[in-house]
Amino acid sequence: MPIAYITHPDCLLHDVGNFHPERPARLNAIHDQLIMSGLEFILTPHDAPLAERQHLERVHDADYVKSLFDWTPDTGIVDLDDDTIMTSNTLTAARRAAGAVIHAVDLVLGDEVKGAFCAIRPPGHHAEQHHAMGVCYFNNIAVGAAYALDVKGLERVAVIDFDVHHGNGTEHIFQDDPRVLFCSSFQHPFYPYTGHESDTAHVVNIPLAAGANGQKFRQEAETHWLPALHKFKPQLVMISAGFDGHVEDEMGQLLLQEADYAWISAELKEIANQYAEGRIVSSLEGGYALGALGRSVVAHLDALLGHS
Ligand SMILES: [Zn+2]
Repeated sequence: MPIAYITHPDCLLHDVGNFHPERPARLNAIHDQLIMSGLEFILTPHDAPLAERQHLERVHDADYVKSLFDWTPDTGIVDLDDDTIMTSNTLTAARRAAGAVIHAVDLVLGDEVKGAFCAIRPPGHHAEQHHAMGVCYFNNIAVGAAYALDVKGLERVAVIDFDVHHGNGTEHIFQDDPRVLFCSSFQHPFYPYTGHESDTAHVVNIPLAAGANGQKFRQEAETHWLPALHKFKPQLVMISAGFDGHVEDEMGQLLLQEADYAWISAELKEIANQYAEGRIVSSLEGGYALGALGRSVVAHLDALLGHS
């Protein structure tokens, strides 16, 4: 079964300057590596649509959504926080990013594909209900999960987040919603300094000390995530796919490698096959070492395709 590859040129236009690690070159690095690996030719390309306000307002406060539409500058920049900057193209890129995940949900709930990867930026998992945060504007994965639940009628969606940073926005949006199982691994203590205390029946967090390697990550995921996923029996598996825990990525101090991303991706594919008719939606979060990012996405997609 093919995997959809959803992206849009507008996601390259959000550019706050080359000094910033969250930069357009990230998507080019992924695309280049997909071509080099030969994977590009077996993925089904799709353009990401613009997310409409009604989609964004399922997880974000309407006043916050309105403010981002209103604050878009014609020229120059608007600072939302130290890291989170609006340019004239930011809103369009952020709407494409959230729209990609909605489109991915539509695709995997149809007949053509069972898996979809959203090669999008800006990322989303730090975005909170009421505000932008940590280079994230709209919480892309949450927008897609809420669409799957509220519009498409699913009753159980799992969101697994293996970015080096805790997915604070996703957790806060769904922490009181038993229809969502949220599993996040992250370096701790580390930005955004959340997640280490929350552990409920449907929030399963794995804080990892700086220097933790793939063996430790796999042990923790096997002990905590996989039993919770088997118990939850998700009808859709969604992945906040951040690759900034890679050993070559200087954003954090975890020591993950391509094989670790392949391992967790294969495990999640198995969960999806058992309970969700194989349906998986994966959406890019972090990953800033360009070579490692490209190789890790290839390992992730190879595993989702069943190549490893
Ligand atoms: Zn991150």
